[in-house]
Amino acid sequence: MSERSWRELDLFAPTPEHALLAETLREFVTREVEPQAQAHDRAERFNVPLFRKAGELGLLGVTLAEEHGGSGMDATAAVQVMEALSTSDPGFALSVLAHAILFAQNVNVNGSDAQRAHVLPRAASGEWVGGMCMTEPSVGTDVLAMRTTARRDGDGYLLAGTKTFITNGGIDDQTLGDCFVVYARTGERAISSFLVEKGTPGFSLGQKWSDKLGMRASFTAELVFDDVRLPPSARLGEEGEGTLQMMRNLEVERLTLAAMSLGIAQRSLATMVDYANERQSFGVPIREHGQVQRYIAESFAEWRAARSLVYDTARRIDLGRTGQRVDADAAKLVASQVGKRAADAAIQVLGGYGYMGEYAVERLWRDAKLLEIGGGTLEAHHKNLTKDLCRDPSLVQG
Ligand SMILES: Cc1cc2nc3c(=O)[nH]c(=O)nc-3n(C[C@H](O)[C@H](O)[C@H](O)COP(=O)(O)OP(=O)(O)OC[C@H]3O[C@@H](n4cnc5c(N)ncnc54)[C@H](O)[C@@H]3O)c2cc1C
Repeated sequence: MSERSWRELDLFAPTPEHALLAETLREFVTREVEPQAQAHDRAERFNVPLFRKAGELGLLGVTLAEEHGGSGMDATAAVQVMEALSTSDPGFALSVLAHAILFAQNVNVNGSDAQRAHVLPRAASGEWVGGMCMTEPSVGTDVLAMRTTARRDGDGYLLAGTKTFITNGGIDDQTLGDCFVVYARTGERAISSFLVEKGTPGFSLGQKWSDKLGMRASFTAELVFDDVRLPPSARLGEEGEGTLQMMRNLEVERLTLAAMSLGIAQRSLATMVDYANERQSFGVPIREHGQVQRYIAESFAEWRAARSLVYDTARRIDLGRTGQRVDADAAKLVASQVGKRAADAAIQVLGGYGYMGEYAVERLWRDAKLLEIGGGTLEAHHKNLTKDLCRDPSLVQG
């Protein structure tokens, strides 16, 4: 590559396909996502028609193969989708992420040809709303201590347990999501994963988590598995492979969650810059005040640094293989805090108006907090990163 073309490489839209996707996202977000965002947050309602429109545009299957109705793109494209949606409606974006990454991309990598052919076209179109069930009422970070079991029963399994905080667990108070990847214990130390579809006897919607702090446009629920009989064909991969599958999926999960924080930071920055140009105090625009400048400049520098880390990690992630765990953890650790700080700074710069719903930053501020908890808490990232770096000190050589 010549020096000129190397310098021209755009980390955030490296190919014409990525540039086209960015354009599609800009239009979709402006025309379809933004006008509904505030109302769905207030009503705590998941927008199913909007979800289906995202499917029509190829946004739900961006990482899936074209033969399964996907767009056949990469981790960078997945980051672009989650970042753009989160500039407007992080709650809706979280539902898309749970469906497209935690569920569909999981099946794409860990499923058989038959499972892919059955699940992925329905996931890519948005006909199905899917999710992933790892967390339980008494087990979150310590996920390998899960209590849900899948006991051998003839040539199949009996799945028993309760999962909680499941995004897309339902699509409304009465209606279960359509299909889930469920992790369960198949031996004292062995975890396996299973596909469980709505309508399977014994599978039901438990408590809906209403009145959430943020991400209110996504539906969070408890799911109950009461001796659900599953055929061997419901298992993803081999028995006992669940932990490895979980780790594989967590990399792209954390990366795309980090991308959501980038979207939140970007919108917060744009809002505070516009406001600082327009609002006057003491006879000058508030951009003239040093303390306001600090909020804007620090937020910009942090967002720019986090964005470079997220996209650089995306560029190196080979979907479906482990290998970028350290950078994916680092990206989410940094970006989640940058997103929350930027939303907080935006409220401060807007003063009383920032506290009101009209400017959206109060919603972004509430949504931003989840990204320090879901998909791994800040403390889990501290623990994982330190363990990995101390095991392999060469990772900190430049
Ligand atoms: C809105 C929302 C959507 C979600 N969607 C999903 C989903 O779709 N699917 C799914 O499976 N889960 C989902 N989750 C669950 C989420 O991933 C968990 O909440 C998260 O992993 C933390 O688990 P926990 O809540 O049980 O907290 P705990 O693990 O009980 O942690 C409580 C506190 O203790 C700290 N802690 C725990 N262990 C350690 C340790 N070893 N060292 C230091 N500190 C520690 C934690 O960091 C935290 O501060 C969702 C959660 C929310 C709130």
